[in-house]
Amino acid sequence: MKRVFASIITIGDELLIGQTIDTNSAWISQRLNQMGIWVCHRLAVGDVREEILDALHYESDHSDLILITGGLGPTNDDITKKVLCEYFHCSFKEDAQTLDRVKKMFASRNIPMLESNLHQALVPDCCTVIPNDYGTAPCMWFQSDNIIYVSMPGVPHEMQGIMTDRVLPKLKESFTLPVILHRTVITMGLGESQVAERLIPFEKSLPENIKLAYLPGNGLLKLRLTVLGDVRQAIAYELEQYSSVLKETLQDIIVIEDDVSLEAWVGESAKGNRLTISTAESCTGGLIAHKITSVPGSSAYYKGTVVSYSNDIKEQVLKVPKEVLKEYGAVSEETVKAMVKGVITLLKTDLAVAVSGIMGPDGGTPDKPVGTVWIAAGSAEKITTHKYHLRYSRIRNTEMTANYALKMLVDAIRDKNKRV
Ligand code: ATP
Repeated sequence: MKRVFASIITIGDELLIGQTIDTNSAWISQRLNQMGIWVCHRLAVGDVREEILDALHYESDHSDLILITGGLGPTNDDITKKVLCEYFHCSFKEDAQTLDRVKKMFASRNIPMLESNLHQALVPDCCTVIPNDYGTAPCMWFQSDNIIYVSMPGVPHEMQGIMTDRVLPKLKESFTLPVILHRTVITMGLGESQVAERLIPFEKSLPENIKLAYLPGNGLLKLRLTVLGDVRQAIAYELEQYSSVLKETLQDIIVIEDDVSLEAWVGESAKGNRLTISTAESCTGGLIAHKITSVPGSSAYYKGTVVSYSNDIKEQVLKVPKEVLKEYGAVSEETVKAMVKGVITLLKTDLAVAVSGIMGPDGGTPDKPVGTVWIAAGSAEKITTHKYHLRYSRIRNTEMTANYALKMLVDAIRDKNKRV
């Protein structure tokens, strides 16, 4: 099976000075990877003729496919089209379809058209124009010396729309691609190096066409097995065998056997079992609620949160007893348990999770150093608690706390289902 190699060139001074983060390369890489195209280089260059030409020459020695974004706008610093014309030794022509679309776009928005907007319709005469249904700059497809070059606008939503609707289907027709399948599991509780240590024999046993990727998040680790091959049925069987061994090896730390986020799993499972959920958040300040509500359809099972950042709110809204706060403090097992009970009563839900901790950089005591977090999750009948010791920055500690809370919610849902 011959591999197809791709290079991505992103163009724009703003990428080099860090003003814009190059999300285009990451997005394109993911899509190409999913269809079995191997991205060998990603290169960001400024709006500079020589650098764009150098990048094109260099990548054409390494890849079968070169995807380019940026520098197609109507302003003077957008020189990609001109440089492509020079690179392919061709001239400009007016593309009637693009001109028509640009005119219609301005007319429908009732905006006067400038001379520079008309230039959007000028394209190198050796390219095939791929219509841009999302903006004015046309996408251009070139084929030279068995290499495909595609130049797309830099605006992420325009590039993504054109790629999805037009470029990816055309690439599928242009190359003979392998079948590619993935299996993902999410683990929590062991660091990446400890998991890697445990998986040494497993990794050694993997054949050439199966790869294992470690994708660490905040407090969680995704492990993805990818298999490439020619016959779907054969590689699906092969992947199943290896994924069973992986699951068995990591059975004590696997949280989810699927490529879904914790919040999406919580959502699916709560909806499927007709359970309602609420949250009571101190140190995460609403982050858990944000994650849960980022899942479409979350209103079916999620009632809301109480951001009880101060002790007053814990006491007045969640009815955490004054004595509990006084005797054990806000960051304590007793307090988070009372927060769960309080929010379940207040918002009338089957399950809840509550967090309270010290995210840093200040606020720790010898007893409760920065990074001490208590989490409680469960129902009115059964609440489970866990103490964590985090040791990172305030932002990372907060992200990790939210993920640990979601993990405890996953456990609470599973436990509730077992008991029903
Ligand atoms: P248009 O003609 O539609 O403006 P363009 O090809 O001229 O497209 P640019 O001018 O290079 O695009 O960039 C337009 C916007 O897209 C800018 O706001 C820029 O920050 C953003 N952008 C450009 N390249 C990238 C990239 N690689 N990743 C994320 N955003 C990008």
